[in-house]
Amino acid sequence: MSASDPARFDLFIAGREVPSSSGERTTLTDPANGAAIASVAVGGRDEARAAMEAAETAFRESPWAADDGALRAKLLRKLADRLDASIEAFARLETLNMGKTLREARGDVAYVVRTLEYASGLADKIEGTTIPVAGPRFDYTVREPLGVTVHIAPWNYPLLLAVRSVAPALAAGNSVVLKPASLTPLTALAFARLAQEVGIPPGILNVVVGPGRAVGEALVEDPRCRSVSFTGSAEVGERIGAIAGRRHIPHVLELGGKSPVIVLPDADLDRAAKGIGFGIFGNAGQMCWAGSRAIVHESVRDELLGKLRAIAEKTRLGPGLADGTEMGPLVSAEQADRVLGFVESARSDGGTVVAGGGRPTDPALAPGHFVRPTVLAQVPSSSRAVREEIFGPVLSVFGFEEIDDAVRIANDTRYGLFAAIWTRELGTAHTLARRLEAGMVNVNESPNTFPQTPFGGVKDSGVGAEQGRESVLAYTRTKNVMIHLGAARKRGGGP
Ligand code: NAD
Repeated sequence: MSASDPARFDLFIAGREVPSSSGERTTLTDPANGAAIASVAVGGRDEARAAMEAAETAFRESPWAADDGALRAKLLRKLADRLDASIEAFARLETLNMGKTLREARGDVAYVVRTLEYASGLADKIEGTTIPVAGPRFDYTVREPLGVTVHIAPWNYPLLLAVRSVAPALAAGNSVVLKPASLTPLTALAFARLAQEVGIPPGILNVVVGPGRAVGEALVEDPRCRSVSFTGSAEVGERIGAIAGRRHIPHVLELGGKSPVIVLPDADLDRAAKGIGFGIFGNAGQMCWAGSRAIVHESVRDELLGKLRAIAEKTRLGPGLADGTEMGPLVSAEQADRVLGFVESARSDGGTVVAGGGRPTDPALAPGHFVRPTVLAQVPSSSRAVREEIFGPVLSVFGFEEIDDAVRIANDTRYGLFAAIWTRELGTAHTLARRLEAGMVNVNESPNTFPQTPFGGVKDSGVGAEQGRESVLAYTRTKNVMIHLGAARKRGGGP
């Protein structure tokens, strides 16, 4: 692929690659150097409608929903295997489009493979119950797919976060319309091609690229939309939640975070520093669950700050595809400006920049959207750098004396996605885990998750959870069936 001949990607509707009816296209650029990488069709309301129509028809007419789960299990497993064999190609496409390092992108695609395997394993285990009731009656429940489910994904883990909700929805027998983020649609479109190749019926997985408000809201407003899974900002999540509430459709909202990492005096400081660094500089900090606030006991604060500074300063920045790169560029110029704006506001509010705080000086990196790993200290808790999600490689470090103060600082945020604790004291770890207002807590580890463990937040971080066994059930509805077995026969009447 050369800059003068960018790859062409169209929308994926009813098993076919189609341009948009308006003919509109956009050129995507490599965040590492600004070179054109792909021309992508941009859909609108017409394409949203066409995708919903295709999904509804496939749901009604293909064997997908009516199957006992064996076919879905088989095809999802086949899709996992095909993707497994294509990890390198998908990883390169993700890096080229989004900027993350190739190592990170390989990890993302491998995670998607595991997600599909896990969903495949559940597809034929969606069972109802029988319920004892009074009288000559037989009562049972069945789990039915919802119909057409809509999935709206962000740009930071483009394929991973799309498939995280698409896989269980497919396993449960639904048909799907996916809207990837406009900046990063390439792997989702390539994934739809792969699904088609392994035999997932046309119309069961549709992908529409287009502006969030026009296409995303048209999908959720469509009467055929029976559920929505949204991963993105709290502000857009609020809009989606309002539409879903008005339309009485189930919804999962996976939103932002401002996650605390508490370091107790007995922690292994080397491991903690490494884990904290990974949790805020990984993916160039563009992580919903980034541990962006380190809350460190005063007795070890200076020592840990020194280790964090060393990690930040030795992190090698570069294009995601280059060997040895440890941190890639941010996804866009706008995102880099936004992140640096937060650093400036922290500075003007009296904060100290311990490491980073600007763009790299290497002229080779100037055309890319790079921001140096940044560590801030002494930032007042009222600063917008402390209160708002930065979504970049910027860590703020705070001190505490008493454990109650650590809990108070940790919970002093509108968000509640994730929290981490570093301590060797088992009792303290368990007690603290319960006191933290977060959907997920990790002890002695940077943020970590698996397809089988629930992922979700509380407060403004969202509603419901993805992943885990329950995620498949969330894409079903329970129907109760009660049968009167007729008047009871008199005793001794015989058969
Ligand atoms: P965003 O909210 O701007 O966009 C997310 C998606 O919603 C995109 O596909 C976008 O096109 C679409 N969209 C935008 N406006 C819309 C509207 N009015 N109606 C319907 N769809 C609309 O978020 P982003 O900038 O792409 O992603 C960053 C945010 O996502 C951060 O806040 C981050 O914390 C959050 N996030 C959360 C999780 C999680 O699992 N909790 C994971 C990753 C990212």
